[in-house]
Amino acid sequence: MIRFNLPPVVGREMEYIAEAIKSGKLSGDNTFTKRCHDWFMQQLECKKTLLTPSCTHALEMAAILIDIQPGDEVIMPSYTFVSTANAFVMRGAKIVFVDIRPDTMNIDETLIEAAITEKTKAIVPVHYAGVACEMDTILEIANRHGLVVVEDAAQAMMSRYKGRHLGTVGHIGAFSFHETKNYTSGGEGGLLIINDERFVERAEIIREKGTNRSLFFRGMVDKYSWVDIGSSYLPCELQAAYLLAQLEQVEQINQNRLDIWHRYQDALLQLQQTGELKLPSIPESCQHNAHMFYLKTRDLACRTALIDHLKSREIIAPFHYIPLHTSTAGVFHSRFHGEDNFTTRESDKLLRLPVYYNMTDDDISRVITSVRDFYANT
Ligand SMILES: *Cc1c(COP(=O)(O)O)cnc(C)c1O
Repeated sequence: MIRFNLPPVVGREMEYIAEAIKSGKLSGDNTFTKRCHDWFMQQLECKKTLLTPSCTHALEMAAILIDIQPGDEVIMPSYTFVSTANAFVMRGAKIVFVDIRPDTMNIDETLIEAAITEKTKAIVPVHYAGVACEMDTILEIANRHGLVVVEDAAQAMMSRYKGRHLGTVGHIGAFSFHETKNYTSGGEGGLLIINDERFVERAEIIREKGTNRSLFFRGMVDKYSWVDIGSSYLPCELQAAYLLAQLEQVEQINQNRLDIWHRYQDALLQLQQTGELKLPSIPESCQHNAHMFYLKTRDLACRTALIDHLKSREIIAPFHYIPLHTSTAGVFHSRFHGEDNFTTRESDKLLRLPVYYNMTDDDISRVITSVRDFYANT
């Protein structure tokens, strides 16, 4: 069977985990976490990086940091993972969805401004498949209206927009190291990126249960105490140890994924030319990270048939998000501004092909042949 995903293992994970165990320091913010933070500070141009137990937690921290109050509104696409919305809903926000662009499945930047009200506090672009949203336009709108931009860059580690790393373009960014993402911290994990100085100090406090413990450890206060709301948003050292091994091989993983992605694209281009299916399109402003290779069939029935066909060949090719505004909780916590021209229609057509580090040539060929066979026989 060809699995949809396999978490990467690049070599030194076990060694680093053993080292962490031997050190006798397993709680958060010890040697391995610091080494990960140093790595990110070197790679990403930003003010602060903080490992979190998940991207969900990083988004929750963002919602606290930007001081979301009951009744505030947050604009985002409906075509996203639940955590993008939940993090803000948990602080009392109402989610305002706007439609996506069919070419990238990202928020349609031209629809954002009309959805802004006096209650709007933030815009949350989601870089679907590691492909950048149109950030210049989004930031320009946000700045004009005094809004915060929180990038859900869960899928976007190593992707760039006009040369800049995604996650470092808005005011705050959130990454995921869940096992389904390009790099993992042993199954679950995340990262909060602060690009705006005014959020830095409070981010450390929120992450340390609302205490100024980080300042205490740096010798800046002589005892630590409860100063704000907060929670435990630190991963343990074992997670950081696993992640560090992955970060040290970041280029190798990235290139391997890109190679697989391009093999799919080259092999399936002809089916796009004959109008059978649609392949992902990458705007010129974006350098992507091959997080996902998706294709879009003509309609829902065709997608179901293709998924079944691939399953009969022992290939797992899942569809993706059910638009949040159509879900049970979405009805209570959100409204859709404007028309849903593409969100539901395009999500109904999309399926994802297996892409993971070190996928074998044979398996890639089998996937390609199976997709081609499906279209040859219909
Ligand atoms: C994976 C993902 C998340 C959640 O990440 P976790 O680390 O599992 O919490 C949030 N948003 C998007 C767009 C994702 O793909």
